[in-house]
Amino acid sequence: AKTGGKAATALFDRSMTDRASERMELEGDLRWAIDHGQLRLHYQPIVSLESGRIREAEALVRWEHPKRGLIPPAKFIPIAEETGLIIPLGKWVLEEACRQARDWSETTKEGAAMIIGVNLSTRQFQQNDIVDDIAGVLGRSGLPPAHLKLEITESLMALSPDDTVAKLHDLKALGVHLAVDDFGTGYSSMSYLANFPLDTLKIDRSFVQRIGEQPEAEAIIQAVITLAKTLNLCVTSEGVETAEQKEVLRKMGSDRGQGYLFSRPLTAAAFSEMLSDRDAV
Ligand code: C2E
Ligand code: CA
Ligand code: CA
Ligand code: CA
Repeated sequence: AKTGGKAATALFDRSMTDRASERMELEGDLRWAIDHGQLRLHYQPIVSLESGRIREAEALVRWEHPKRGLIPPAKFIPIAEETGLIIPLGKWVLEEACRQARDWSETTKEGAAMIIGVNLSTRQFQQNDIVDDIAGVLGRSGLPPAHLKLEITESLMALSPDDTVAKLHDLKALGVHLAVDDFGTGYSSMSYLANFPLDTLKIDRSFVQRIGEQPEAEAIIQAVITLAKTLNLCVTSEGVETAEQKEVLRKMGSDRGQGYLFSRPLTAAAFSEMLSDRDAV
C-alpha cells in the first residue's frame, strides 16, 4: 500500500506539473496567436421556432493551433480571462464578427436582417473604455448597431450594480441589443431582470437537456418564459438537440432556438453557403 501511495503521489505531481507547463505554454502561444491571425470564428445559427428562419448567428471563437489543431474556447478562454489576454482577444472577436455580419447583410437575403451575437466576458465589460471601443468597432465595420447583440453573463450582476446599470444603459444608447447568456446557472436573484435594460434571455442548455425527462425542469423553463414575456424579453433556448425539445419549447413560447438540431457552429465559409442556399429556395 505504501509503494502504491508513493507511485500515485508521483503520478499526481507529474500531471500537476504537466498541466502547469501546458498552461504556460498555451499562454505564451495565445499571446502570439492573437497577433498572428490564428484565431477563427465559427458561427451558429439561431432560428425562429415559428418560421425556422435564421434570425441570428452567435460568433464562437476557436484557435487554430499549428501543432495542436483546432482548440475549443473552453481550453483557452479561462486562461485569457486570468491573464488579461481576453481584452485583445475580445476586441478581435468583435471586429471580425461585425465585419463578417456586415458582409452577410449585404450579400445575402437571409443575412440581410440577421443579428450577430458576440460573447462579452465580464472582464471586458469592466474596461472603462468598453462603450467607446464598441462604438468604434461598429463605426469601422459599418454594421448598423441594431444588428449586434452582446451576450453577457449573470456574473456581471455581482459587480457594483450602479456602475453595471449605467454601462448597460450606455451600451443600449448605442443601439445594440443585450442578452443574458446561460440564464439560470449563475446569480440567484432575478431582481436585476427588471432593472437592467435587457432584450433577450438565453435559457441554458442544462435546462433544455432535461425536457421530457424531468417535469421540474420543464416547469422552470415555463416559469422563466412567462417571466421573460412579462418583462418584454425575447427568449432563446440553447442546446436544442431533439425535435421533441424544439416542439416543447415552441409551445411554451420560446421565440428562438439554437442547437445541433438546427446546426452545429459552422466556419464562415460554410455559414455563407447555408445563407446562399436559403436564398435560393
Ligand atoms: P456559450 O456562449 O454558452 O456558447 C454556446 C456553446 O454551446 C458553444 O460551445 C456551442 O458550440 C455549444 N452548443 C451549441 N449548441 C449545442 C447543442 O445542441 N449541444 C451541445 N452539447 N452544445 C451546443 P463552444 O463554441 O465550445 O463555446 C463554449 C463557451 O466558450 C461559450 O459558451 C462561451 O462562454 C465561450 N466563448 C466562445 N466564444 C467566445 C468569445 O468570443 N468570447 C468569450 N468571452 N467567450 C467565448
Ligand atoms: Ca453565448
Ligand atoms: Ca450560452
Ligand atoms: Ca452555456
